[in-house]
Amino acid sequence: MAHQQSLHATSLSNPSQFWAEQANSVTWFKRPTSILKVDRDLPAPHYTWFADGELNTCFNALDRHVLNGRGSRTALVYDSPVTNSKLQFTYAQLLEHVQVLAGVLSQHGVKKGDTVLIYMPMVPEAAMAMLACARLGAVHSVVFGGFAAKELAKRIDDCNPSVVLFASCGIEPSRVIPYKPLLDEALSLSKHVVPIRICLQRPQCRVRLDANRGEYDWEDEVKRSRRANLKPECVVVKSGDPLYLLYTSGSTGVPKGVVRDNGGYAVALIWSMNNIFGVGPGETMFTSSDIGWVLGHSFIVYGPLLNGCTTVMYEGKPVGTPDAGAYWRIIQDYRVKVLFTAPTAARAIKREDPHGELTRTYNTSSLRNMYLAGERSDPDTLQHFQALLKVPIRDNYWQTETGWPITVACAFHDPSKSTPTQLGSAGPPTPGYDVKVLISTSGKHKHEVDHDDSHNHVEWQEATEPDVMGTLALKLPLPPGCFPTLWKNHSGYLKSYFSKFPGYFDLTDAGYLSSNGYLNIMSRTDDIINTAGHRLSTGSMEEVVAAHHDVAECAVIGGQDKLKGEIPIGFVVLKHGTVHSNNEIINQLVAAIRKQIGPFACFDRVFIVHRLPKTRSGKILRRILRAIYNGSPYDVPATIDDESVLQEIKDAVRQPKGSVLSAKL
Ligand code: ATP
Ligand code: MG
Repeated sequence: MAHQQSLHATSLSNPSQFWAEQANSVTWFKRPTSILKVDRDLPAPHYTWFADGELNTCFNALDRHVLNGRGSRTALVYDSPVTNSKLQFTYAQLLEHVQVLAGVLSQHGVKKGDTVLIYMPMVPEAAMAMLACARLGAVHSVVFGGFAAKELAKRIDDCNPSVVLFASCGIEPSRVIPYKPLLDEALSLSKHVVPIRICLQRPQCRVRLDANRGEYDWEDEVKRSRRANLKPECVVVKSGDPLYLLYTSGSTGVPKGVVRDNGGYAVALIWSMNNIFGVGPGETMFTSSDIGWVLGHSFIVYGPLLNGCTTVMYEGKPVGTPDAGAYWRIIQDYRVKVLFTAPTAARAIKREDPHGELTRTYNTSSLRNMYLAGERSDPDTLQHFQALLKVPIRDNYWQTETGWPITVACAFHDPSKSTPTQLGSAGPPTPGYDVKVLISTSGKHKHEVDHDDSHNHVEWQEATEPDVMGTLALKLPLPPGCFPTLWKNHSGYLKSYFSKFPGYFDLTDAGYLSSNGYLNIMSRTDDIINTAGHRLSTGSMEEVVAAHHDVAECAVIGGQDKLKGEIPIGFVVLKHGTVHSNNEIINQLVAAIRKQIGPFACFDRVFIVHRLPKTRSGKILRRILRAIYNGSPYDVPATIDDESVLQEIKDAVRQPKGSVLSAKL
């Protein structure tokens, strides 16, 4: 049996033994005697990991490496083309900064269990802030820098921080975004009063601070703490105590405060670093995301540092800072072993540099694997980078809620154990995750989803055959590291995720398992459409559209249709320098769907646009496209990257059928 498959089987047949072994990678102040405690008297999901264990996550991420004589190894590399600066911190240096910052926080009264809100861009001080909170047992909540005031206010009112740590500005390639006016407005909107705000002044935007109103200068505070030599020791916390809370990216418009524990998360992340990514102590990982998202929490900050690796914090874009070669330069400069980014970034690079000329300019020979997560990766993009970089590209599927990949073809340290990737699939289940496809009756066509719209009055069962599309769910218990609750909303946690399918965690995505056990994620359950009684996944149609040579990216959504209920509507962005006319491309796309999915899909409207609306984390906002097309009301989510994109979409959908923008056969 292949290595991953056999580990997966062991992890499910004897989870306590499997995770007890993995828990040895953590330095516990009190080693847990209880690994998996199942208590049927508790409401579902009934279980706790490492209940009596005690530790400190900052100790595991920093102190222990220094105590083990690895203090001179590089912990964090900061590379910022937008400010033209680069910095490196060894483990010993990073520890010293974090100790001093923890001193600042404790001087302001922050203690175990308090919440601290971090509103900062991709600067080393943001990672230091997270670790300083962890050191004190305080719970951090990082809010993506530049979030609008109203959204920031909502989060302040939800998590009631005693301190806000913020930077004076974020820096985009074309402009500086001052954060203080946003924070000030948020504070005027919020009911909760934050007594202390500490500002990291950046030279691009210095702001006036008023200590009488609770505003302090970061550097002054750090100097004061250093002079007083405060350097608080790591506070002992229970394994299940919260390390952070993080609001989900909000594609569905309702941010939820996902809580992460300390012990389970540390165990899961160290396991992930060594086995999923194959990045060991002393090796370098470059995760191009933002600390405001779960990817940044898990694989910019905590995962690499817990495992004694070097992490790269990149303040820049995949393209335009200065060009589409930025990632390859970083790989060359820091001998990066693993690159992790989002499909949207990969597609942007491919669009700017379609023949990979910039990739070949740099020496990327240190790279062993590239990872993509956050939304579906189209096979064309995967093939493009696989051919250029000559390394496996590993699509992986997870959620803010889980904290680490649910499915992925693991790399492992030993290349002979590496699990092969499969185009179009997000990989086989990761050890610990019992992935199931839930259906109402036996499956039909591979592209059809077989369940009832309302999810009501239907008997559910696990699909027993491969290639049957249904709702994806995880059989309980979830492995360590997954969220134990929603912030101050345990009843919402139980209701949203565990009530619809008792005994399972509802992933709210649709997909199918292939006969070799690989998972294919086809869409969010909300994005499934019903065309004349056929339940179709828009993802399978996107896969066909994206495979067209001239298509850079695309989205397929459900448009209302008097006759058929819903019909699929395509929105397509073309690559630079295509030779075919729009009409030719549209006709080819329509023909491809007829051939590969079937005429019953009724795919005949395609709009060619310059950009698609996305969240700042790069997810296509299909629900907005759907609302615009259908002329129904919608809220623009706070996470939208650039609202101006919407005008072009509105103009496009107003075009009569048969115009150059759409085809009707
Ligand atoms: P919200 O739950 O607030 O609407 P969100 O679901 O977009 O926001 P995240 O937790 O960042 O917030 O995203 C997880 C979702 O992203 C998954 O449920 C899935 O729909 C999608 N996703 C992530 N990775 C992949 C992947 N490899 N392939 C397909 N879809 C993916
Ligand atoms: Mg979600």
